[in-house]
Amino acid sequence: MSVLPYPALHASHGGIWIADGPSADGATRQIGRGEAVRIAADTPAILLNAPLIGQRLGHPELSGLDLLELFAFVRPAMFAVPTPKGLAAALGLDAPADDAAVAPFLRIAANTLLAMLDADWPEREGAWTSAQSLFRLRWTWAPAVTARLAKPERAERWLFSKLPEWSETAPRPAPRTVTIAASDVADRLARLTGAGAERRDGQRAFADAATAAFAPRMIRDTPNMILAEAGTGIGKTLGYLAPASLWAEQADGAVWVSTFTKALQRQLRHETERLYPDPDEHRRRVVTRKGRENYLCLLNLEDALQGGFAGRAAILAQLVARWAAYSADGDMVGGDLPGWLPTLFRRNGSTALTDRRGECIYAGCPHYRKCFIERAARDSAQASVVIANHALVMVNAARGRETATRPTRYVFDEGHHLFDAADSMFAAALTGAEAIEIRRWITGPEGTARGRRRGLAARLSDVASYDEEGGRAITDAIDAARALPSEGWLARLAEGDPFGPVEALLAAVRGLTYARAAKDGDAGYGLETELAEPDATLVEAAGPAGAALDALVRPLVTLGRRLEAVLAEAPDWMDAPARARIEGAIASLGWRTETVGAWLALIARIGGPADPDFVDWLAVDRAKGREWDVGLHRHWLDPSRPFADIVLKPAHGALVTSATLKAGGDWDVAESRTGAAHLLQPPAHFEAASPFDYAAHAQVLIVTDVKRGDLAGLANAYARLIVAADGGTLGLFTAIRRLRGVHARIADRLAREGLPLHAQHVDPIDTGTLVDIFRDDPRASLLGTDALRDGVDVPGHSLRLVVMEGVPWPKPTVLHAARRLAGAGNLDGSAYDDRIVRARLAQAFGRLIRRADDRGAFVMLSAAMPSRLLAAFPPGTPVRRVTLDEAVACARGLPSVAPMRQDAPA
Ligand code: SF4
Repeated sequence: MSVLPYPALHASHGGIWIADGPSADGATRQIGRGEAVRIAADTPAILLNAPLIGQRLGHPELSGLDLLELFAFVRPAMFAVPTPKGLAAALGLDAPADDAAVAPFLRIAANTLLAMLDADWPEREGAWTSAQSLFRLRWTWAPAVTARLAKPERAERWLFSKLPEWSETAPRPAPRTVTIAASDVADRLARLTGAGAERRDGQRAFADAATAAFAPRMIRDTPNMILAEAGTGIGKTLGYLAPASLWAEQADGAVWVSTFTKALQRQLRHETERLYPDPDEHRRRVVTRKGRENYLCLLNLEDALQGGFAGRAAILAQLVARWAAYSADGDMVGGDLPGWLPTLFRRNGSTALTDRRGECIYAGCPHYRKCFIERAARDSAQASVVIANHALVMVNAARGRETATRPTRYVFDEGHHLFDAADSMFAAALTGAEAIEIRRWITGPEGTARGRRRGLAARLSDVASYDEEGGRAITDAIDAARALPSEGWLARLAEGDPFGPVEALLAAVRGLTYARAAKDGDAGYGLETELAEPDATLVEAAGPAGAALDALVRPLVTLGRRLEAVLAEAPDWMDAPARARIEGAIASLGWRTETVGAWLALIARIGGPADPDFVDWLAVDRAKGREWDVGLHRHWLDPSRPFADIVLKPAHGALVTSATLKAGGDWDVAESRTGAAHLLQPPAHFEAASPFDYAAHAQVLIVTDVKRGDLAGLANAYARLIVAADGGTLGLFTAIRRLRGVHARIADRLAREGLPLHAQHVDPIDTGTLVDIFRDDPRASLLGTDALRDGVDVPGHSLRLVVMEGVPWPKPTVLHAARRLAGAGNLDGSAYDDRIVRARLAQAFGRLIRRADDRGAFVMLSAAMPSRLLAAFPPGTPVRRVTLDEAVACARGLPSVAPMRQDAPA
């Protein structure tokens, strides 16, 4: 094997090493920061994750021969944890024993990857063509790659010819009306859990209760609804998959299983393999669906490859094209595109490759028949189980194009998130960022904008020339859209020089928000104030802005009507693709018209009476002191109402389940949070406690001597606990500022002990990858905020200590205050806050014990933890108030902690 003539560089919080001897595992020496930066600037160095190494060297723009990029080229769509250990596992090499061994290992890994190019490897097809393009783009690996890749004898199939086409099938008939027998469900469950599996009564009872959601519906607009709280370890996934799969087979329908987190979506896909062990059948029967903004848009990719992207973004586009040719489903977010790939390019370009702006031209697109999004939609129409998420279920129900195949049976797992998902889905926001999106969608590219983006006129040119009224509506809409904010609006607002009536309104919103907003502890982050008692400037700005939006909504409504009419008239030129394109245009026009209509309602509210169903406020969104959006917001006071109307009522059955559905409260809370309270017929309830032995395997420690507001003391507590537990710690924060402060103080100290520390909002790595890294290394620890409280599923030894910095009280936002006042969920004041905190504590604690043999401790670093909140923890969990020294001693004893005296949860 020829050895690359380049040095390899590794930097951790524990030091910096370089390997530059003549052999692949040649001499290694420890060097200083200055020398490392100098070497990397002089000669391309082999690195693993350049942004991360750059951050550690204090040189964020550092570049070099990033092994992760080479891996993405050679092994597209293959999973690898982006660490030396993870790369070693993916390449079948021995992992380096310590930090000092990493640099020589990187050279060995580089040689191993390059050696694959000499032979035929599974992802060979397309590599030569791609490498030629990457050479022209001056990709750092291109010389080494092209030197080893022989030109194929025959022309390679390129991505767009390689991807299979989906075929149109007859619409699936409505599901048959069937009743599934309880004995069949029990048999199916026994088959799924395996013949030798121990009998789990809780799971059987759960499956039995879940079966009721699949019974025939008896009353119009009233689904059979089951609320089921099933503690961790009941095995609820197989518990509901048993009746769901039976119903799907007997009724010939699809059950939509909806989750909140991507982690559960992945896990569900895995569990459904037990239902359909044959891979082909599994692929046909189980389809994962996500929002369209998750998938690669082939048209956007083609544009990027043909010059739409420049510099590093163009290299990313080439690597994404390599991946797309081997991807199972084209899902760029949480699918088989490595989550770390876009971050290597500082996320430059990756979102532009998805259909985030809703610019799809459907059948007008040359790649329509190969489109990943269209394929997923068609596959799901024929599937037995569709794994979706709450947001997609709501979007599809509210404005989906797939009306003929509307789901009739739902399982909402992680059902405690339905309220928040509905809250985001049914909200309206008239902000600069939102308005500029609609402007671009209508007018198309303006000024110097690059790319293929097309406005309404280009997308519907055939309609415009065929239908005079439709053509006029397009022109009017484009004229009216010019009154919306345009490029540079934020700067104009800051300078007090807004352009046009909507920017003037936003300037008034910004002025009033700064005048009234309460500044919270996280200086530099968002500001907001309720929409009440507006000042004269805001009231005066509302009139012209409303008139401008009114002038926009009218032609949009007319155009929608004309498109419907053209479809009905079916002129000669309208072939199937044109029809599909117009249908697509009607759907996307419809929800934009709705959006502008909601903005008008919001503007009408300025200076007018409040609508008791909604909470309205003004906000300036900021991050690290920089403004990024300004506008008016409207949320439902009770978003479970539109959820019940739009999703639940048309359904025939819905099971809502979670380990924390009641959040330590009663069924009233669960009913009010899931929309069940808005149905004619009350839901059935089911409850099963976790079978885990929390008394023996877990403990809650409330540390009483870490002073509030003492960042140094907080950091010291984290460091001591992590060292005592030998890593394996998940640290949860309620404020990013404190997370960063603690990380900065302890990362080096822990590294010296050989304990890696990773952190959300610090490491230039996406959250999913951070969790993969944490899971892969039992000595690693991870710090994070809300997303980690809910979305981490790390069974086993890698997670043995959860440390929370303080009681996770809800932020005192305008929305929270309004719901608290209204006694949302039949609670009021502090009881409402308590319920939220209990739910958060239960979720955080739930990260700890994922399997019957898991053991661990949950540490709360706040003496101000009221005893009434202890009901958040599973009954029987030992709870003690201790000093930090005592907590450290307990952490040292993990994972084999002895049961302790019990201070029973209230
Ligand atoms: S059909 Fe739409 S989403 Fe699919 S590739 Fe074409 S433009 Fe993109």
